[in-house]
Amino acid sequence: CPSGPALLFAKSGRGKEEGRRFYACSACRDRKDCNFFQWEDEKVSTTRLAAREEYNRNHQPSFTHRQNVERYKNFVLLPLSKRRFCQECQQLLLPDEWEEHSAHQFLCDISTAQLKSPSQLLYPLENKKTNAQYLFAERSCRFLLDLITDLGFRRVLSVGTPRLHEMIQSKASQEEDFRVRSLLLDIDFRYSQFYTEDEFCHYNMFNDYFFGGEAARETCRKFLCQDNGERVIMVTDPPFGGLVEALASSFKKLMAVWKKTEKEGHNNQEMPMFWIFPYFFESRILEFFPSFSMMDYQVDYDNHALYKHGKTGRRQSPVRIFTNLTPSKIVLPVEEGYRFCALCQRYVSSGNQHCEICNSCTSKDGRQWKHCVLCKKCVKPSWFHCNNCNCCALQNHTCEKTDAGCFICGKAGHKRSTCPSL
Ligand code: SAH
Ligand code: ZN
Ligand code: ZN
Ligand code: ZN
Ligand code: ZN
Repeated sequence: CPSGPALLFAKSGRGKEEGRRFYACSACRDRKDCNFFQWEDEKVSTTRLAAREEYNRNHQPSFTHRQNVERYKNFVLLPLSKRRFCQECQQLLLPDEWEEHSAHQFLCDISTAQLKSPSQLLYPLENKKTNAQYLFAERSCRFLLDLITDLGFRRVLSVGTPRLHEMIQSKASQEEDFRVRSLLLDIDFRYSQFYTEDEFCHYNMFNDYFFGGEAARETCRKFLCQDNGERVIMVTDPPFGGLVEALASSFKKLMAVWKKTEKEGHNNQEMPMFWIFPYFFESRILEFFPSFSMMDYQVDYDNHALYKHGKTGRRQSPVRIFTNLTPSKIVLPVEEGYRFCALCQRYVSSGNQHCEICNSCTSKDGRQWKHCVLCKKCVKPSWFHCNNCNCCALQNHTCEKTDAGCFICGKAGHKRSTCPSL
């Protein structure tokens, strides 16, 4: 389909098609956005294949990345008064194109500063199921970058983190002694208007697909080569509705590329990584990456009402950093209320109390959790032990069992929509 190779799924639920396998779009979870569908064992006629190829061609962006780079070069030569950006088409306009867009809303006098912060210029994509874009709040983005530089990394593979990429790029162009470089991999092709082919690759992280083909894959491979000891870290912030299994499979492939690039061999090391994701996916991520641990740091976003860091009555963000780096090295800001737990050897939220029975700081959401002797673990402060369900739950929960595990936390007893983690 237009997003590259499809993924193999199986029909769930009861019915005669249960378990039957089919291919569907890797990136779009909504049939409205991409209706590609094929049974695993289906024979596809040559006419249908040809029609499909034509459809895919027609659903590619109107300009190639190379053309966009050329357009940018011409755009920056224009005087300020001739620099326009079409808000409807989300496109930088050259003067001979104004006519075509005359009925559209556009921004004028696009400054160099604006060109350096495309994530501010472009509107965040909001399609919930496909690629909802939640941009880092300045504070969180700065924290991540400081952490990365303090840890001694010189290269950042930014996978779905345009704002981090942008912060690195603008710092590098402004400060002479700032030597960090970044390569952005993202499915949002609008970014190709602002970055060269060495700075941005059009990429699908659900199937490890480079839209730019072998050349783009090679750019990424070269970037992951650590010559002169320039250490690399991958940072990714995938859409939260994304399938963990598909993401993990792509990330393992990127890690394998990194491993192969090193001449001396990394022994048994893994490419360092920050995977930014909600805490209730912890067990799913650890299933695929047992070497990872979850940090207490709460990642805040600009355009997400719920996850915003407020002055009073702060809404707690459920988004965390998962990493394969040694937890004690991830220093969290004391002025934002984090402290070091000497027993756990990691930084934790101030409200996260060390439980002597569990022998760990058990809170996942920053609030103080309480130990339940029957469950033999710490649970949320609002939960009570229910003898019916034989586990802790909200007081007003309905005691009913569903056999399929919840899509979000994997536990039985509820469906995704009523997951207590949400
Ligand atoms: N917090 C980040 C943005 C995260 S939003 C920041 O501020 O930099 C998720 C990002 O993943 C978006 O940039 C979106 O375009 C990208 N994305 C969504 N689906 C993707 C896919 N299938 N492959 C690659 N990138 C994807
Ligand atoms: Zn337009
Ligand atoms: Zn502790
Ligand atoms: Zn406990
Ligand atoms: Zn209990």
